[in-house]
Amino acid sequence: MKPVMALVGRPNVGKSTLFNRLTKSRDAIVADFAGLTRDRHYGNAKHGEHEFIVIDTGGFEPTAESGIYKEMAKQTKQAVAEADVVVFVVDARAGLSAQDYDIANYLRKLGKPAVLAANKAEGMQEGPQLAEFYELGFGEINPVSAAHGQGIRSLVDAAFAHL
Ligand code: GDP
Ligand code: MG
Repeated sequence: MKPVMALVGRPNVGKSTLFNRLTKSRDAIVADFAGLTRDRHYGNAKHGEHEFIVIDTGGFEPTAESGIYKEMAKQTKQAVAEADVVVFVVDARAGLSAQDYDIANYLRKLGKPAVLAANKAEGMQEGPQLAEFYELGFGEINPVSAAHGQGIRSLVDAAFAHL
C-alpha cells in the first residue's frame, strides 16, 4: 500500500494548486473562489523515491454548524482519517487566522502526523515573515509555492520523515 497524504487547510490557501503540483495533473478544481473544491479528490504522486496518494479536500471549518461548510468539514475529516500523514496548508501571505488555530487543535486532538506548509511563499525566506506560524505548534515551517513549484521536494521529504 502506498502511503496516503491528505492536504488540509482553510479555503483558498492553495490546497488544490498544491494537489495539482504534487500529482502534476489538472484534476483538482482550482478556482479564485474560496471553497469551490468540495469533494475529496485522490491523485497519484511520485517525487524522487517517494510514491504516494494525495487527497485534496475542500475547506475545513470544524465549528461550522450547517450547510456546505459542515459537509466540507465532514469530507476533510474522512480524508484525515484515511491519511498516514497530513499536510496542513496555511497562507504565508494572509498570515495566521482563527480557522488555522481551529484546524491545528483538531489535528492535535487526533494525534495524526502532520507537517505545516506555508504556501504562497514565493520570494519569502524562512524567518521573521513566517515565524508567526510556529504559534500553531507544528514545529518546522515548510515554505512552499504551489503555483511556482518551490519547496515541494523539501515538503515531501518532511512529510515522509513522519512515516
Ligand atoms: P484551495 O481553496 O485551498 O484549494 O485553494 P486553491 O488551490 O483553489 O487556490 C486559491 C487561490 O490561491 C488561487 O487564486 C490560486 O491561484 C492561489 N494560489 C495557490 N497557490 C499559490 C502560490 O503558491 N502563490 C500564490 N501567490 N498564489 C497561489
Ligand atoms: Mg480547493
